[in-house]
Amino acid sequence: MVSERIKAILDTLPQGVQLCAVSKYHPAEMIQEAYDAGQRIFGESHVQELQQKCPILPNDIEWHFIGHLQTNKVKYIAPYISLIHSVDSERLLSEINKQALRNNRQIRCLLQLHVAQEETKFGFTTEECLNFLRSGAYKEMKGVEIAGIMCMATNTDDEQRICQDFKTANDFFQQCRQEFPDLASTMQIRSWGMSDDFHLAIQQGSNIVRIGSSIFGHRIY
Ligand SMILES: *Cc1c(COP(=O)(O)O)cnc(C)c1O
Repeated sequence: MVSERIKAILDTLPQGVQLCAVSKYHPAEMIQEAYDAGQRIFGESHVQELQQKCPILPNDIEWHFIGHLQTNKVKYIAPYISLIHSVDSERLLSEINKQALRNNRQIRCLLQLHVAQEETKFGFTTEECLNFLRSGAYKEMKGVEIAGIMCMATNTDDEQRICQDFKTANDFFQQCRQEFPDLASTMQIRSWGMSDDFHLAIQQGSNIVRIGSSIFGHRIY
């Protein structure tokens, strides 16, 4: 089941678009099934859950953290996390930097933009994000690599609204690469698109889609 769904999605992804299989709330056996079908990138959004799954699954899995991350939990995932999609404050980035250096590694991070209309979603506004980059503070953080931008679109059926949100993120991504040439070589990732909107996301420049329920079925919380 899982393997067929993964293959079906991979068949629709254009070249250059990666799949992050979002396995939160699903058991390790289902992740193993996806792994056996060739999938290597998995996204989780809770530290405790990730800590339980990681040791019992193959160690060449690339774990991505996609949920809101509390600063006091960074230390648990810093030894192995491959990419953190959801950096929503300078304070969090600074803690990731500290914990990465402690582990003698560099952690790739995406800056999460708040582009949706809901107030509940986390992330920098484009203005906050620009101000942060302009401050140059990231240059002192040798333990993190700013690898791109992440966003979630407004939760709506209005496709135009969704496209607009993704376009805002994509325009901002391009603007950053122009304004900060020192970041352009590492800043490559555009993480947008989930089960219901990834086709629209790809039209708006996404190169990594985060898909959960279309692969693993509905989550039981
Ligand atoms: C849960 C989650 C997803 C996956 O959502 P689906 O609709 O199940 O594909 C993607 N991104 C983030 C940040 C999530 O929390």
